[in-house]
Amino acid sequence: MVKAIVGANWGDEGKGKITDLCAEASDIVVRFQGGANAGHTIINKYGRFALHQLPSGIFHENITNIIGNGCALNVESLMDEIDSIKSAGINFRLLISERAQVLLPHHVLLDVYEEERLGNKAFGSTKSGIAPFFSDKYAKIGLQVWELFNDELLKEKLEMMYEKVNVTLKYLYNKPEINFMEVYGILKGYAKCIKDYVADTSLFLRNAIKENKTILLEGQLGTLKDTDHGIYPYVTSSSTLAGYAAVGSGIPPYEIKDILCITKAYSSAVGEGPFVSEILDPTEAEELRKRGGDKGEYGATTGRPRRVGYFDTVASRYGAELQGATEVCLTCLDVLSYLDEIPVCTAYEFEGRTYKNFLTTDKLYASKPVFEKLKGWKCSIKGIRKYEDLPAEAKAYVEFIEKEIGVKITMVSNGPAREDIIYR
Ligand code: GDP
Repeated sequence: MVKAIVGANWGDEGKGKITDLCAEASDIVVRFQGGANAGHTIINKYGRFALHQLPSGIFHENITNIIGNGCALNVESLMDEIDSIKSAGINFRLLISERAQVLLPHHVLLDVYEEERLGNKAFGSTKSGIAPFFSDKYAKIGLQVWELFNDELLKEKLEMMYEKVNVTLKYLYNKPEINFMEVYGILKGYAKCIKDYVADTSLFLRNAIKENKTILLEGQLGTLKDTDHGIYPYVTSSSTLAGYAAVGSGIPPYEIKDILCITKAYSSAVGEGPFVSEILDPTEAEELRKRGGDKGEYGATTGRPRRVGYFDTVASRYGAELQGATEVCLTCLDVLSYLDEIPVCTAYEFEGRTYKNFLTTDKLYASKPVFEKLKGWKCSIKGIRKYEDLPAEAKAYVEFIEKEIGVKITMVSNGPAREDIIYR
């Protein structure tokens, strides 16, 4: 059985926690897209971890964790993550797709220089090199992992690649050029670090499907950051949709039987772009920000404050529909316990008309949220394990969202720890 765990919103919905939880009953967990540019926070008996590239099944020693071909492999940052897992005394199994592409030093530099060049038109990139990486991948000049082990080919490719990169560095950005042999040395170091993990992971997964293994495909970010369907151009450079999970892991699409879509009880976003239900009052926003997540809404990778807003049913329904959600998990319900009334954005007003469907970026920028207010429950709901034990107002909130999204909410998360979960 193959299940995808993906985000309905802008990312940071709590996918890591839910994957860690669902991983308990799985044989394999796969990361199918993204790179070191975003992180999952996971809190379990070993401590608090910010995972960027390692799949969230890494804490379970009987699970095979796979970094799929759809990922942007940042070897240096992966080695740091592996060290943090090893030093917590965790035994793990990891495979890296021989077809994953390798993030190169110039990707990070070009990301930084381009954001500088764009000035106040910058995207708010995490500057981890993701956009230049995917540009190279689709321009077919990137490097797949297997190429690290072919010395002659590698040298030849790097020489050609840096001829072009250096023109950009020198003439567009006025920055120092890169010697391709230095990069060659770095990459040979990468090859040594990862060689024991490299495998034909698509074959491994196809065989695992034949053996009826349980496989989780773990997404990064959420629908609204998808390159095609998100708030373009304020998106990430790879698809965040379950539809891409088959491509990014190398399995047939029809094998994905269950799509668990994660949405948070309020909204948060990082980077630039339209955010219709954003709380614009700084005090009101800070109140929610500091209560959000497990340590406030601050980026797991960058530490930067996230923009926060109330729940947006228009964006979340769109997010869940594009993911093809078969079930929804609502996280961070506990965070809203302080509010007397909870505004929920149920429509957008644009040029005098009311919209219930998601719009293109220009229209979103010009849209105003239409809020309905639900009654708050004003008491702690942490520690509750049964749905019927939730206060009536909290249940009403969950059921209101469920009706608006149109997909069954099967899980409600009421705290950051693995055990803070209510199944319905
Ligand atoms: P991901 O990238 O989707 O995994 O999300 P992040 O890890 O970036 O952000 C989610 C944050 O919310 C993390 O700090 C989690 O520990 C935290 N979290 C997850 N579920 C809950 C929950 O139900 N309640 C609270 N308070 N925090 C949660």
